[in-house]
Amino acid sequence: MQYRQVPKNGDLLSVLGFGAMRLPTKRGRIDEERAKNQIRSAIDAGINYIDTAFMYGESERILGQVLQDGYREKVKLATKLPPWHLQKPEDMETILNGQLKKLQTDHIDYYLLHALDSSTWKKFQDLGVFEFLEKARESGKIINIGFSFHGDRKTFKEIIDAYDWGFCQIQYNFLDEDIQAGKEGLQYAASKDIAVIIMEPLRGGVLTRKIPSEVAKIYNSADKKRSPAEWALRWVWNHPEVTVVLSGMNDEAHIAENIAASEDAFAGSLTPEELSMMNEIKNVYRKLMKVSCTGCSYCMPCPFGVNIPECFSFYNTYHMAGNRLVTRGMYGFRLMGAMGGTPSHASLCKNCGKCVSLCPQHIPIPGELKNVSKTLSGWRTKILLPLVKMMFSRKKLDDSA
Ligand code: SF4
Ligand code: SF4
Repeated sequence: MQYRQVPKNGDLLSVLGFGAMRLPTKRGRIDEERAKNQIRSAIDAGINYIDTAFMYGESERILGQVLQDGYREKVKLATKLPPWHLQKPEDMETILNGQLKKLQTDHIDYYLLHALDSSTWKKFQDLGVFEFLEKARESGKIINIGFSFHGDRKTFKEIIDAYDWGFCQIQYNFLDEDIQAGKEGLQYAASKDIAVIIMEPLRGGVLTRKIPSEVAKIYNSADKKRSPAEWALRWVWNHPEVTVVLSGMNDEAHIAENIAASEDAFAGSLTPEELSMMNEIKNVYRKLMKVSCTGCSYCMPCPFGVNIPECFSFYNTYHMAGNRLVTRGMYGFRLMGAMGGTPSHASLCKNCGKCVSLCPQHIPIPGELKNVSKTLSGWRTKILLPLVKMMFSRKKLDDSA
């Protein structure tokens, strides 16, 4: 296993982090024994960064058990403070205390504000989040302070500049170089000595499931034979600004494959030929996308609040081997305000035309947004919204069950 250094504290973190969002299941419930074996063997193989969240179902409670018998001391543990359940400042401390109890630990090494965008960022600020974080750090309950991010680049830079963060977590993969924080955000954070943790390196499985034949042909022509997952992970590790790449792992073969790939995936280790092959693959995927949006955000902001690149990103994922039910749920959750954030979905488009001339890809944006709306804002998504809300609100602030 290789390790990369966190600039502000000198921690050496494994380049592969264990994402504990989707633990293995048996008959609809988490298979706790299998999860324990998977996580402990990954730690034995050198992984020392484990990521969970209040919102990941039973994950925190199970991790608390898995990390007994000396395993807690071998890892840096990351978990997240959800904005969705907060109504008053005291709720933040209630949640943190519940998390410490579930995780059976007296401190969280890496504590993140979960899923920042312009609206959750404002909510955290209005609640006085920094006062809470500083107090929690002084008391030793949390050590490093960071945030995970799903908003636009301008907001990302604003957040980066607003506080002395130790680390941040962004979505990044070879298809999403320009989506959300993107490469520019990655480099901006790194230039401020902020460690960058990467999520979605395989774009929720889009880059590894149902590989299009044209893409498979290119992979097969490479001198080195590697799986699509290994190529995608290596592409991310190739960036020197990246500290840890999180992989949500729940299959023994995938864990072994990812650990093996991480052994020699040094920054800058892909050859110019390999990088140009990845670029070729990206272009094939782009051609196969329903809307050839690169996520550049030149069309933003929309005066009516539509998050144009995110709408197209969900739409493309929906049509490209993404899990359709999950994609609908996430679209409802993130863009339709299922949890109370400001809605920014495609149906808000008023066809004002302001964005059209700004798009370098010449995408007929309002027309395509109508298609997104038909596909993702219809009754199938609407019936999911109460379920999403129920799932989230079922969690109590001090949930320690
Ligand atoms: S055409 Fe639609 S998406 Fe574009 S700026 Fe106007 S309202 Fe926003
Ligand atoms: S300007 Fe065009 S390519 Fe860029 S994000 Fe907007 S729709 Fe996508």
